[in-house]
Amino acid sequence: MSSLPKFQTVLQISKNGGPEVLEVVHDAPIPKPQEGEILVKNTHAGVNYIDTYFRTGLYPSSQFPYILGREGEGHIVSVGPNTPGYTIGERVAYTGMATQAQYALASTSTVTKLPEGLPAGIGAASMIQGLTALTLIRESHHVKSGDSVLVHAAAGGVGLWLCQLLRAVGAGQIIATASTQEKLELAKENGATHLINYVEEDWVQKVKELGGVIAVFDGVGKSTFEGDLEVLNRKGTLVSFGNASGAVPPFSIAKLSQKNVKVLRPTLFNYLATKEEFETYANELIDLIKEKKVEVRIHKEYTLADAQQAHKDIEGRGTTGKLIFKL
Ligand code: NDP
Repeated sequence: MSSLPKFQTVLQISKNGGPEVLEVVHDAPIPKPQEGEILVKNTHAGVNYIDTYFRTGLYPSSQFPYILGREGEGHIVSVGPNTPGYTIGERVAYTGMATQAQYALASTSTVTKLPEGLPAGIGAASMIQGLTALTLIRESHHVKSGDSVLVHAAAGGVGLWLCQLLRAVGAGQIIATASTQEKLELAKENGATHLINYVEEDWVQKVKELGGVIAVFDGVGKSTFEGDLEVLNRKGTLVSFGNASGAVPPFSIAKLSQKNVKVLRPTLFNYLATKEEFETYANELIDLIKEKKVEVRIHKEYTLADAQQAHKDIEGRGTTGKLIFKL
């Protein structure tokens, strides 16, 4: 620890609000790793829609000031006591808290060592969105060959991962929705087989015309939830995993009996609660990237000083793929 500076630069909020409450401070303390933790000097940190939820207060922060960020990539600079298997200098990617910072702590149960040759930033760009997509198609609804599925916001960060992974596992019809033609074309390049502009078209009717679906992957939330129940076939599964348009309001479970459908509201962290679970999925994800079976699309690299713009961009629906901070 002796060669570390005393203070670091972080992106934090001291209150909830619009992008203007994001503040970059240069005198934040550098945390010390405890047993089972490492300290990482980040080269990159991912931006995720969840950062906007903490900023607005949709998800409450544990305290203020609150450092944002849920994933990062960098080099180990310090290892906690009694924490074997980790060496200073090793390059890692991880999920964790307070990662939009020069230095962040990571639990060894949510760290993966990056192979040589993986381009800089790809680790940070893949952890949350890639692992989310992978766990959704395995755990929320185990997608089988030939399954007809619907992916909303298919050109977004998680959306593009879903399209590629669904193609890789042999899903049948991969019906993609997005708000523009350009986004739909991108979804198609990434595996979507049927395209619907859900802003301009009656997407519920169109999905029904395609025969309905056995699973819906929905990170949009409020604006699509009711339609999702309509397009599901008997014994189908609605995987509602996000709130880009707002949180899904309470609904009557009696609705589910019309077609014996299931509704899930999963979070990544509850699928990767153990070191073994994390390693299993992270290893598979890194292998898929290494073997070029999936491509990680970076929308744009930002600096922490550009954080307000990054939030405006992701909330403004103008992005495709991953936004990352270079530190
Ligand atoms: P995206 O890159 O997908 O961005 C969100 C997209 O949602 C937009 O590009 C837009 O696509 C679409 N959208 C639809 N309605 C709105 C609206 N009213 N305002 C803004 N955007 C809208 O973000 P992420 O990939 O980071 O996240 C996608 C979703 O997945 C989010 O809801 C996020 O919270 C969730 N998530 C959940 C996780 C979990 O563990 N449960 C983990 C990771 C992400 P278009 O213009 O095509 O409509």
